[in-house]
Amino acid sequence: MAEKQKIVLASGNQHKIKEIAQMLPEYEVVGYKQLGFDQEIIEDGNTFYENALIKAKTVSEALNLPALADDSGICVDALGGMPGIYSARYAGDGVDAHNNALLLKNMQGIDNRNAKFVCCMVFYKPNGEIITATGETHGLVMDHEEGENGFGYDPLFYSLDLNKCLGIASAEEKNKISHRFRAIKQLKDKL
Ligand code: IMP
Repeated sequence: MAEKQKIVLASGNQHKIKEIAQMLPEYEVVGYKQLGFDQEIIEDGNTFYENALIKAKTVSEALNLPALADDSGICVDALGGMPGIYSARYAGDGVDAHNNALLLKNMQGIDNRNAKFVCCMVFYKPNGEIITATGETHGLVMDHEEGENGFGYDPLFYSLDLNKCLGIASAEEKNKISHRFRAIKQLKDKL
């Protein structure tokens, strides 16, 4: 059997690596740590695209391989799009439970619960070529956590596509409607 083409994912987040590997079965998806990359990447962009580009370019140039990066987060209408690109460190320490507690607190007493997850993917080739795609999925911020599936804000996100909270959705269900899946689908069409 022919060997699968390797894609380096510019991420150390095991949840993301797993989800993206499930969406790209025709490729061997490996996290950068597996290839010995251990530099700290400063994500100081102002948009999901800028941060994804910083990650993909840094890893591609360091390893001299094509690299895929995703930058994602939850944007809440009533909070002016926050936490957005700051989603991973919303509460300051990068702990999901603390981020969720802060979001719950900031949404107390607010009627407009509309929110979306956004994912921007950048595929960067060593010759400088960039392919990019963005996906979104819409839902509501719940007023309590439900379930333990997924990661990050999933237990607080009621998906309008699935009519259930992502915290209780199976991986297969989430992967059919997620912002990451929608971005990957678009990216694959461009590859
Ligand atoms: P990044 O690794 O800088 O792209 O940060 C992404 C952050 O956004 C994660 O740490 C989560 O807090 C949040 N996030 C992104 N995608 C998801 C998802 O599919 N479910 C739940 N939270 C997510």
